[in-house]
Amino acid sequence: MNRKAYYIVMLMIIALMVMGLLIATAELTGLNFGYVVHFLNVIIISACLLIYPKYETHFFRKLIISFGFLYFYTLFFLYPETWTTFIFICFIPALSILFFDMKLFYFSLILNGLLIIAAFGYIIFTDKGGAYAYLHNDIAGNLINIIASQVLIFLIFHLSFRRMKKQQLYYEQLQQTERLKLTGQLTAAVAHEIRNPITVVRGFLQLFKEDSSFGDSAKGKFKLMIDELNTVEQIVSQFLTLSKPNKDQSAEQVDVRDVIQSVTGLLNSYALLSDNQIDIDVEEDCFISINMIEFKQLLMNMIKNALEASDAGKSVVVTAYRSRQHIEIKIIDEGCGMSEAEVKSLGTPFYSLKSNGTGLGLMICYNIVEKYEGKLDYTSSKGHGTTVTIRFPTA
Ligand code: ADP
Ligand code: MG
Repeated sequence: MNRKAYYIVMLMIIALMVMGLLIATAELTGLNFGYVVHFLNVIIISACLLIYPKYETHFFRKLIISFGFLYFYTLFFLYPETWTTFIFICFIPALSILFFDMKLFYFSLILNGLLIIAAFGYIIFTDKGGAYAYLHNDIAGNLINIIASQVLIFLIFHLSFRRMKKQQLYYEQLQQTERLKLTGQLTAAVAHEIRNPITVVRGFLQLFKEDSSFGDSAKGKFKLMIDELNTVEQIVSQFLTLSKPNKDQSAEQVDVRDVIQSVTGLLNSYALLSDNQIDIDVEEDCFISINMIEFKQLLMNMIKNALEASDAGKSVVVTAYRSRQHIEIKIIDEGCGMSEAEVKSLGTPFYSLKSNGTGLGLMICYNIVEKYEGKLDYTSSKGHGTTVTIRFPTA
């Protein structure tokens, strides 16, 4: 609730409490204990309500509700001739709905149940209908009404709580999507800026390669450099196409073995950095219909994740087999593994357990696999390793 509305509502409540206090003061014959409690309660609750926005803690809410209990039960016992105080007692738990606090709600519901039983005990055994004739006349009927009122409050709370939670979740997802959109645009801008310098550098290298004043070994190195720059440019283009997903990307017949070999070739030096190894076991003639760059990106992400999860010395195995209708690619590691809950979160944007991770890799992978009607499955056990299974229809 916004601050202004909060203070207006609270001032109204305080005004009502003060009015009640004034009426009680007018009828006062001599100072008694009950009146003092009533008076102090109005002061304390007013103060609590006014400073609550500064301390929005569970403890403070509990304090306010507890004083609320004290206040309404004081009224109930102090002014038995005013039967409407009984209604207030029934609806005290509803106060915690305003605070949107589940624990507080159950606390007040249970406390209210106990206090109502105590109050009825008092009316039946001590008062015997003296002051509370209106309750004593029909004990059973009144009790049923009280229970009904508590059930009603419970239902109201539960339904509104669930709805609020849903709305909150929706709002969070919306924010997430906004963030993703922003990163997408940023990546596109950066990728675009990287492209131009690369083109210039590659141009010069091409010139040098053709220049006869360089020897053969230098020319070989220029060729290598140009190849590397081509890879960079490809990756940058990938980023650009990712941020423009509507752009048509052609699928082609791709030999899975060739692609796996070229991707693992690229990643081998990355693996060696942490003393890991990539083993491949791939059947011949596995063809799928997919965009080559996206397929490379998919494998690259998956194998990189597997390597990053593995301890030094362990190897990652990549296999690909043909079945009747599918090509099944597996990436198996003996790394840190994941719990069931962690596996469930995979593919969520920005979900990453690495200190320098982006949590975007798998999101992109899931998109690619879905686009080509494939399936992506994770089997993992914490501490033992992970197997990723990617299945694509055979071309
Ligand atoms: P990033 O690699 O940037 O963290 P990803 O989307 O590629 O983002 O992966 C998300 C998270 O999934 C990782 O941070 C990691 O915790 C987990 N993960 C992915 N693959 C594996 C794997 N093979 N073994 C263990 N954890 C993995
Ligand atoms: Mg990754």
